Amino acid sequence: MTTIKDRFCPKCGKPSDADGLCAACRVADTPWAVCDTRVTSTHCPGCGATKQVNTWTDTNRERADLAPDLARSAVHFHPDVKRRSIAVSVRDLSANRSRAYLTITGILYGQPVEKECMVELAWHREQCDRCNRITGSYYEGIVQVRAEERDISPFEMQKAAAIATQIEDSLQQGGERLSFISDMTENRDGLDITVGSQHIGLLIVQGITAQLGGRYTTHPKLVGEKNGRQLFRITYLVRLPRYQRHDVVKLSRTYAEVEQADSRSVRVFDLSEGRNRAIKEEEIVRLVGNARNAEPALVAYVAHGMLGLLEPATGATIEIQERPWMAVRAGENVQVLRDGGTLVVVR
Ligand SMILES: [Zn+2]
Ligand SMILES: [Zn+2]
Repeated sequence: MTTIKDRFCPKCGKPSDADGLCAACRVADTPWAVCDTRVTSTHCPGCGATKQVNTWTDTNRERADLAPDLARSAVHFHPDVKRRSIAVSVRDLSANRSRAYLTITGILYGQPVEKECMVELAWHREQCDRCNRITGSYYEGIVQVRAEERDISPFEMQKAAAIATQIEDSLQQGGERLSFISDMTENRDGLDITVGSQHIGLLIVQGITAQLGGRYTTHPKLVGEKNGRQLFRITYLVRLPRYQRHDVVKLSRTYAEVEQADSRSVRVFDLSEGRNRAIKEEEIVRLVGNARNAEPALVAYVAHGMLGLLEPATGATIEIQERPWMAVRAGENVQVLRDGGTLVVVR
């Protein structure tokens, strides 16, 4: 039987509290921290993205901010090291070299340990996957936004562009780097959006039709083959409805404001009856204007179910029938559109 007093370190001969080497000799025998002499950081000069193994990630961290973490990545600890800590100071040598001085500390088998290392940081530049595709004019689809039998309005143009940009932002933030918009052009026919992936193309047309109405069709075209896989480029054609939201239209006996339109039916607010209803597109006699472009007219009086409106252009008073939905008092403004000599009060 051995007792505690019988245990001696076979290396230094001092009493040991464990079988085999004493703590000091175990520490001396253990390569507890190893430093790589050099680590490389690859970043894209175009967009600043950084590459880890083979994956690019967007970052807005600067080199000075990245350097300490990069230097720490050069240190490999023995798993038994507790309370690890690495202090780093970095000196830039050139545009593509820095030198990091590391002071590494920890606790190993109850003994504090400390070590110093010097690590070369290499700043490597490489064009990222996304910038490579954009500069190479690579794309997977084109979204074409058009309107049915009319020009696309400036509002729709702006709205469609904003929807597309917002979808790109959220995909990029979610790490879908190749879902980019490489070009967006307004032309006589409408808006063309060139996209880097089919996924973003689909999300854009879904977003636009959800907010502006209409429908979309997809037209794939075979453009080649890569590694035995067929490559398609897709044209996403958005057709915005003939009538848009807030359009004021003339029906046979009344005016109505369009709430929503798709290819078959139009939901309107009847400006005489003061209620919503669905009509067929054929019932529309003509377009008067859009309520977004209405102008204010002062209500001079309200009497006997009539409104006296000051005609904004001439100052003359024009009398029109009051409708319950208008809920207006003398001295207030209503919004009007002109249909020839008629003032049409809109919502
Ligand atoms: Zn010993
Ligand atoms: Zn890039």
